[in-house]
Amino acid sequence: MVLPVRSRRPFRPQVRTFAPVSSGAAPAAPLPTQSFAELGLTEGMLQTLERVGYSHPTPIQALTIPRALQGRDVIGGAQTGSGKTAAFAVPVLERVEVGSPDVQALVLCPTRELAAQVTLEFEKLAAHLQVEILAIVGGDSMGRQLDGLRRHPAVVVGTPGRVLDHLQRHSLRLAGIRIAILDEADRMLDMGFAPDVERILQQTPKQRQTLLFSATVPAWIHRLAERHMRDPETLSVAGEMELVPTIRQWCIECSWAEKEEALTMLLDSPQVRTGLIFTATKRNADLLHAALLARGYDVTVIHGDLSQRDRDLALERFRKSRVRFLIATDVAARGLDIEDISHVINYDAPSSPEDYVHRVGRTARAGREGVALTLITPIEILKIRDIERHTHRAIERHQLSDLRLLAGSVGELVG
Ligand code: AMP
Repeated sequence: MVLPVRSRRPFRPQVRTFAPVSSGAAPAAPLPTQSFAELGLTEGMLQTLERVGYSHPTPIQALTIPRALQGRDVIGGAQTGSGKTAAFAVPVLERVEVGSPDVQALVLCPTRELAAQVTLEFEKLAAHLQVEILAIVGGDSMGRQLDGLRRHPAVVVGTPGRVLDHLQRHSLRLAGIRIAILDEADRMLDMGFAPDVERILQQTPKQRQTLLFSATVPAWIHRLAERHMRDPETLSVAGEMELVPTIRQWCIECSWAEKEEALTMLLDSPQVRTGLIFTATKRNADLLHAALLARGYDVTVIHGDLSQRDRDLALERFRKSRVRFLIATDVAARGLDIEDISHVINYDAPSSPEDYVHRVGRTARAGREGVALTLITPIEILKIRDIERHTHRAIERHQLSDLRLLAGSVGELVG
């Protein structure tokens, strides 16, 4: 299929769209199936899904799994939180040949964190199978990865740089690949991985199946689809920009100079049990981290310039509630799946409505409630309007003076 080349914009493909379950809205069209059993899965997979507590497919799973099982190429419009990982992991695991010495499926992810989460999801869903799943990401021990590759993994989940590294060393062969998966393809493009992704795909057999997941479809993805995919079907869930209804959102107008004061007033509230704080840049993240530490806050930081060890450590501490606040950049927080984050705080406003939805989607997970707070300077107020337009949800406005008036009882506002 020749896809028209379009400029970068929210992913709203026309092929088949269904309302998301997470929005709580009535489906725009009946979902294609109501249960995993109707998707044509094996008994072993159905039992595993039951064991891990997935009672019904999410919309993107219901759409993608049957096509992927037929061997079709698919472009899935889905974001983290939609269940997109299982949408490709389930059909991949149903299609791998147990006992084959080849790497049969390769998943490329933009970040090490996402690769780690994808690997965990695969391992969970492969409980009934005798297959090895291996993560090969930058920053991890090469020796361990080489050992892992000698164990003949059926599925390799990796970041493009390290996968290429192994290809150049001939420690990884892709001649037996039956399925290639590009996860968060738009982010791989943002992070400069486009040439690496193409080089990797060129080393896989032409007749392979390709599954591509992306929140947006920049022109590169159209070209990639033309060059590397066979008649892909584009599937998406309508209303992707919708936020789960259990998120409450408001913004606080303040000047640049007042931002730190506004933030600390929020952090001092006991209602803000755990906070994920977003900054626009790595430098801002470091500066804010230092400022909050100096004020005695229990805070850590994660961004792309930190070593893998430091990033893992920061995430682990936050995940296990050993630290109350985590400062992150957009890229570093990609794919973060921590169930219990009470508040997302945008210290720096997000650069697009998509980024806003990604950020605030880190709270109110798994049916919980969550609050999204955005500090906004007067010249950025248009960004809030843009977000409101895209998400069809109002964001309550407050002034810093409202917080000052509340003094010690900010919690009434943010709780
Ligand atoms: P993902 O969008 O792949 O990052 O998935 C988001 C979260 O949803 C993960 O914690 C998954 O374990 C969970 N999940 C995926 N599919 C289902 C399902 N069908 N039912 C319940 N939870 C799911």
